[in-house]
Amino acid sequence: MWWKIVLLTALTIGCGVSPPAVSPDQAVSQPRAKNIILMIGDGMGLSQISAGVYARRKSMNLERFKSIGLQKTHCKDKLITDSAASATAMARGIKADYSTFGTTLQSKAPPSILEELEQRGWSTGLTVTSSLTHATPAAFYTYQLSRAMYEEIALDLMKSDIDFLVGGGLRHFNRRTMDERDLLEEMKRSGYQVTSFIDEPLADLNIFSSSKFIYFTANEEPLQHSMGRDYLESAAIRGAQYLSKQNTPGFFYLIEGSQIDWAGHANEADWMVDEVLEFDLVVGKMLDFAKRDGETLLIVTSDHETGGFAVVQEGDRGELIMGFNSKDHTPTMVPVFAYGPGESLFQGVYDNTEIYHKMRQALGLPAPTQ
Ligand code: MG
Ligand code: ZN
Repeated sequence: MWWKIVLLTALTIGCGVSPPAVSPDQAVSQPRAKNIILMIGDGMGLSQISAGVYARRKSMNLERFKSIGLQKTHCKDKLITDSAASATAMARGIKADYSTFGTTLQSKAPPSILEELEQRGWSTGLTVTSSLTHATPAAFYTYQLSRAMYEEIALDLMKSDIDFLVGGGLRHFNRRTMDERDLLEEMKRSGYQVTSFIDEPLADLNIFSSSKFIYFTANEEPLQHSMGRDYLESAAIRGAQYLSKQNTPGFFYLIEGSQIDWAGHANEADWMVDEVLEFDLVVGKMLDFAKRDGETLLIVTSDHETGGFAVVQEGDRGELIMGFNSKDHTPTMVPVFAYGPGESLFQGVYDNTEIYHKMRQALGLPAPTQ
């Protein structure tokens, strides 16, 4: 409450006192970020990262960060969140009820940071290893009442005008049950280069930076990494290149390692570690990009822990003995790693809604009006 004391003193002394030269906000101000790459490892808690470190037996890219914090993940109505509510907290700065995006029958959620930046002329992108309509990416663009409304969420994706999109869920666009619409044709008409795994691998594709881009990696959910899914690295790199080439004030790029969570629900430790290590490889590529670029803030975090996972023992041959306490999410805090302009804002222990406010602050955006 020091500011109250300063104010009282100023009032007592009267008009002879000049205001402080530096406001508390300015005192902690840093160089502004032009671009944000937000990477979410769904279900990636500290134990998942630890297992990755010890399974790999050499450093992970996450160890290259210096600014590290912890976020609390509980949602509005429950101690244990789901991915829709936790991604909504990071995307929109509000606590939502379990399995929702903050829009209720009574009120519409405030715009997400991605939507606001899109409005302000930034270029925007999403790359995920789930369907594009899955809870985590959807939280950044949808106003539906529930995460299960995939076909309705696909309609919101159409309206979002996001420039670069890579992920699964093709059938919600071209084999719809709620209506007869062919959203692929509609997206082509609205200026998208529309392609999919049926056409050619993403890595071989000619991406035109003059049009918006969407690439579907699967009809439904993409494969596990260990079963041959290999697009995340090239999609992340090509997305960052595409977005930085646009003639815009900056870009916002969400990259999700979606299946760390699914391996946690399945209590399959080897699958989980494999997904963590793939995600970390992409973290390294994005960190290299941010270091070269100098104006990009890279944030790597999670939405919640999954599985109550722990490394419990070292086996006779030095292998990791790993165990789970749950088939669901847990409320344990999850780490936040940040690099680039504004990175020190992400140090400390805070609520997941603060990720939204810290990103705004790093970009130098005014406080939200709602
Ligand atoms: Mg997810
Ligand atoms: Zn989950």
